[in-house]
Amino acid sequence: MARVAHSFRGLLPSLALALAAGCSGPAAPPETAAVTYTPDPHSYAKPAEARVTAVSLDLTPDFSARTIAGTARLAVTRSAGASSLVLDIRDLAIARVTDAQGAALKFEIGESRPFLGQPLTIALSPATDAVVIEYRTSPTAAAVQWLAPAQTSGKKLPFLFTQGQAVLTRTWVPTQDSPGIRQTYDATIHAPAGMRAVMSAEDVSKEGEKDNNGRGVYRYRMTQPIPPYLIALAVGDLAFKPIGKTTGVYAEPSVVDRAASEFVEVDQMIAAAEKLYGPYRWGRYDLLVLPPSFPFGGMENPRLTFATPTILAGDRSLVSLVAHELAHSWSGNLVTNANWNDFWINEGFTVYLEGRIMEELRGRRYADMLRQLGRQDLDQAIVEAGGSKAADTHLRLALDARDPDDGMTNIAYEKGAAFLQTIEAVVGRERLDAFLRAYFERFAFQPMTSEHLLRYMNETLFKPGEVEKVDVQAWVYGPGLPSNAPPVKAEAFAAVDAEVARWARGERAAALATSAWSTQEWLHFLRGLPQPISAARLGDLDRTFKLSASGNSEILFAWLEIAIRERYEPAFPALERFLLSQGRRKFLRPLYEELAKTDWGRAMAARIYRQARPTYHSVSVGTIDGILKWQEK
Ligand SMILES: [Zn+2]
Repeated sequence: MARVAHSFRGLLPSLALALAAGCSGPAAPPETAAVTYTPDPHSYAKPAEARVTAVSLDLTPDFSARTIAGTARLAVTRSAGASSLVLDIRDLAIARVTDAQGAALKFEIGESRPFLGQPLTIALSPATDAVVIEYRTSPTAAAVQWLAPAQTSGKKLPFLFTQGQAVLTRTWVPTQDSPGIRQTYDATIHAPAGMRAVMSAEDVSKEGEKDNNGRGVYRYRMTQPIPPYLIALAVGDLAFKPIGKTTGVYAEPSVVDRAASEFVEVDQMIAAAEKLYGPYRWGRYDLLVLPPSFPFGGMENPRLTFATPTILAGDRSLVSLVAHELAHSWSGNLVTNANWNDFWINEGFTVYLEGRIMEELRGRRYADMLRQLGRQDLDQAIVEAGGSKAADTHLRLALDARDPDDGMTNIAYEKGAAFLQTIEAVVGRERLDAFLRAYFERFAFQPMTSEHLLRYMNETLFKPGEVEKVDVQAWVYGPGLPSNAPPVKAEAFAAVDAEVARWARGERAAALATSAWSTQEWLHFLRGLPQPISAARLGDLDRTFKLSASGNSEILFAWLEIAIRERYEPAFPALERFLLSQGRRKFLRPLYEELAKTDWGRAMAARIYRQARPTYHSVSVGTIDGILKWQEK
């Protein structure tokens, strides 16, 4: 999930060595060998002086106090003269800092800044190669959501999960929280009886192990260096159901069967992705279906995608989200945006890969529908970002003094994907695929910037004249959607457009030819309805197609947007239920925005939000607070 013109040419040799130590693969030619580390405007770290290479956690969540307490042991590489290590922390209570032998180290906590938190500066003695930090999180730690039993499916036990992207890991792990500073990690988690801890790492727990307090002990290990936003934890009443040999689903016991059946194509997806982009490098691929307050559709935590239950449609119609999170195993997790200004390098590539994986599984006709809906989302995102001249519509963003979460819009996703579609149109699929395979291989486990990527494309992909034909500069550093974006025209939507036209001419809903429609065709239909629409005609649609009662979250969402816009009151109970029953920001943001446009809507939004707010994750709360100009009373 979830762009400034820094140059990385002046990379410090010591840093380059330290970074290269974590890398594998064949040696790159000199011009592409430089491992990128750009200054990260969203981190206090000074990795050129001292850099965290490994994080070792021993943590105990306390569900009554809503805190996580324990230790983080950080392995450090340092330049010869370095006298201090600078970490990112936010809302952490630091009790003690020692070296690996237990000798106290001096530390200082700097001034706190909005969303960045504070620098924790630890004095290093000449021999220090590790620091141990004893700490406790705040009950309001932004990464961590604590769910009451009532917010779970089982209703008996509480639940917790973390969401690190973009700069939230620092609210539960004191480390250098920059995507350009990769770290391995391991963790020992002490979970209350009856609950299981899962993480974005290999499970190396010993069956039935208990600590002295009777808590279950869960052990995890990630031996590949990852950006710290991918360190993730969930604790709850979790069951597991295998899908394939190296795939499966964790979810609450009452959800796990449904989830496993929804995701049954995951092995096919992995096979398709490997065929296109090279080996899957992370061992197992499991999914964790979270309670409905999870703020995102999915989060690509390595080995263990975190997913919203709102994609469990019962008919596998929304599983392109799984293809998306899986694709991050290449774009994002293997090759990672060096800082959040280059977020499109994670998401644009991933949306492109997602389309290709779904095309392998379900054919071109299906994938083209996804692409056309994506292009519609992009048009909308450009309007929302301020129009086709707005700086926030650049792929490369300038988020330096802002919350990086501001950059997590559909621009990065859909304009990024359209950029790759444009390259594909110019160089052809075969050459683009070969380029992508080589790119993931060469830059595996490394950070990437726009400059570096474009240089690599120039060196290895484009033939003379093609850079100009693609107009790379306009795409990456310019606004709006460049005019050479190839048109996307889903064949299947022609029939839908015909039905929209019939409806517009006054045809009754029951007379429309909709029986063979997929979710994507329904979305195109609902998005295409002309406005305004009378209450009588909305009622006809609703009664005929049971839209307010739809169990498909995407269709329901598209319908509720219309219902608010047209003030179609019979759908409002469904709207209220939807806003109260799930916390996925993709759905919440447009609905609250639409409500906020009118006086009656604002009153309704305020009434619902007062009740819903405590059930949403901080990521969603931050966004909706902004839309409603909410001041917590
Ligand atoms: Zn993504």
